[in-house]
Amino acid sequence: MIQLEARAYLVKQGDPASSAFLVESGCLEVLLEQPDGEQLIAVLGPGEIVGEMALVDSSPRSASVRARVASTLMPITPGQIDNRLANADPVLRLLLETVLTRFRATLDQVGGRSAHVRARPDTSAIKCAALAQLAMAREFAQAIDGEEIAVHYQPIVDLADGRIVELEALARWHHLTHGPIPPSMFVPVAEANDLSAALAARVLRIVMRDLPLLTAAAEKSGGPVRVAINISGQDLGKPGFIEELGALAGPMTSSVTLELTETALVRSPAAASSLAAARALGFRVAVDDFGAGYASYGYVQTLPVDGLKIDRSFVEGMSESFTSRSIIASMVQLSTALNLETVGEGIETDGDLAALRASGCTLGQGYLFSRPVPFIDTLAFFADWPSSKLFASFSHAQADHEIESAPCFLTA
Ligand code: C2E
Ligand code: CA
Ligand code: CA
Repeated sequence: MIQLEARAYLVKQGDPASSAFLVESGCLEVLLEQPDGEQLIAVLGPGEIVGEMALVDSSPRSASVRARVASTLMPITPGQIDNRLANADPVLRLLLETVLTRFRATLDQVGGRSAHVRARPDTSAIKCAALAQLAMAREFAQAIDGEEIAVHYQPIVDLADGRIVELEALARWHHLTHGPIPPSMFVPVAEANDLSAALAARVLRIVMRDLPLLTAAAEKSGGPVRVAINISGQDLGKPGFIEELGALAGPMTSSVTLELTETALVRSPAAASSLAAARALGFRVAVDDFGAGYASYGYVQTLPVDGLKIDRSFVEGMSESFTSRSIIASMVQLSTALNLETVGEGIETDGDLAALRASGCTLGQGYLFSRPVPFIDTLAFFADWPSSKLFASFSHAQADHEIESAPCFLTA
């Protein structure tokens, strides 16, 4: 951080240039030094950037910058921009590289600054990645309402008796020529190309088609079942989106949970009002991947939700980690205090199941019970109950493992 007294110079015209500056507070004057004195060409305040040409080339400063009042600034180096560009979406990156290249070419033509041009990375890999992403977006848009999109279901079980209480609906894309494409690839593409709301609608339509048979099968094996679908945070505040889901679910909204990640909720300014609108239509709402984002427990208390899903990074290996058990104990205590349902995600071992049960968590999901499977196999879970593999792994774990619960650190 740079602090300047009033009237002090940040840079002088002709100085070598190695960074730009973001004005944090105060006020700066940009001055052109001319034979007959200084000419004021701009006045900049908080949030504005000065000296940005240093990010484009390494020419000397073309103007002086002076603090009008005491000011603070944050330097921005070309390296920081390069790192951000390297991690950016390929289409955005290609666009920025193109704009920068054209800008430099224009400078060359008008001002002969070519001697100072910074070397730029080879853009051929960026072009390839951008083209691949746009092609995937186009194909996903064409596939979204067709046979290539399916839903697999993963059971969420009651940790007291192993009964399936909910099924998480997870989208699957089986590309006709490329085969299965994982959600970790196509969900970000759907989100970047404004297709995630259409994906949620498609998944809900499939769920509505499957729900009558799932409900009938579940009733025979001892109780009702709900289905959870995943919603992208960016769609939450979209006008009409929640209402569209409500219309698709019709009278079945109370059998459907909308899962939103903690990170998405923190980022969405409309989170609380949209969740309230969803609940007013009868949907249940759950915070997904809880603990993986930056939401404080205080923030979660303000949200109108029905459940928390503890991120699997805490559940994996919890039987061997006192820290994970303590964190989960505090999450469960928060959840209980707020009267929320708690699901532990990513249970893979008998030991983690036992530790989760000992924490007081009431519901669980994970490969130990089942991977996500097609609709037909999901029906079989209920038909085979209680001799199914799912119940067997549950009761086996219950008998073999007893783990003491960790103390809870949450006091307020
Ligand atoms: P998620 O909502 O956290 O879903 C759970 C993911 O964890 C699923 O991966 C599931 O297969 C995986 N999982 C479940 N149990 C275990 C376990 O015991 N161990 C491990 N290692 N993994 C486990 P999947 O199906 O690949 O989905 C990944 C993510 O893609 C989902 O994470 C969700 O964020 C997103 N996604 C899937 N379908 C949709 C959709 O229809 N819409 C949106 N917006 N996102 C979706
Ligand atoms: Ca989820
Ligand atoms: Ca999750």
